[in-house]
Amino acid sequence: MAGAGRFAPSPSGELHVGNLRTALLAWLFARSTGRDFFLRVEDLDQARAGAEAAQLRDLAAVGLDWDGGILRQSARTPVYLEAIQRLQEEGRVYECFCTRSEISDAPRAPHSPPGSYPGTCRNLSEAERERRRPERPPALRLRSEVTEYTVHDVLHGDYTGAVDDLVLLRNDGVPPYNLAVVVDDAAQGVNQVVRGDDLLSSTPRQAYLASLLGLPPVDYVHVQLVLGRTGKRLAKRDGAVTLGALAELGISVPEATAMILGSLGLPGTLPEALAAFDPAKLPLHPWVFEPPGADR
Ligand code: GLU
Repeated sequence: MAGAGRFAPSPSGELHVGNLRTALLAWLFARSTGRDFFLRVEDLDQARAGAEAAQLRDLAAVGLDWDGGILRQSARTPVYLEAIQRLQEEGRVYECFCTRSEISDAPRAPHSPPGSYPGTCRNLSEAERERRRPERPPALRLRSEVTEYTVHDVLHGDYTGAVDDLVLLRNDGVPPYNLAVVVDDAAQGVNQVVRGDDLLSSTPRQAYLASLLGLPPVDYVHVQLVLGRTGKRLAKRDGAVTLGALAELGISVPEATAMILGSLGLPGTLPEALAAFDPAKLPLHPWVFEPPGADR
């Protein structure tokens, strides 16, 4: 069985050229290896009205197809809670009462990675927990037994990164992305995760969590993000970066798709690109997208 790949956008706004490029890559990696390809809407937070429909429209417009229905994370809270409960039964979960500023102000070991949880609530006594519960609903954290974990990435090779006591349930009751992504990839039979390389540093904690839940490991492919003119990752403020905005400048969807595929060294239609696709030939330098000016 070949398994599956996926694209898992957060419905926070319209997809831009960089998001579409990652989606096209995810599809090319999956289809060129005979995998199914799924779409998952990561709408646990940041969901903006109308964004999901616009994203699906644009993904279909560039020629992507996907298998089965669309999974929405907002409908799956019981499944995430069940995974947390399994970890709880193994004694791997503790309540955390820290506020964001308490975490950033807390003293930490000299080499602990920036932003990592300093372990403040890890060893509270039961009496202390009882005292604090009425003050503030706790978040739940993983009692991690490692400080780092190594994953293999098709483009980056072995990658070792920090693992801290990550949040398993936020104090507003919402499961965080790091848990949901792991549970959902396994539930959908996803064994190939293609996504932007901004998520590479989160991957060791996700893979560690998956291992604790007894979920099968996946192949990771972290692809380069598209950059804007300033050298920072492409964003809406860079100008005409969505299919809609490009269309207003007279650039059709097939032309925009060909432009994205061209940046990957691939021919300009999706069937041709699929036939030519070879991960070993992907460009190694980032693509800088210069949105066309209004003069075109
Ligand atoms: N929802 C995440 C995002 O849009 C992607 C998560 C993933 O592919 O694992 O950045």
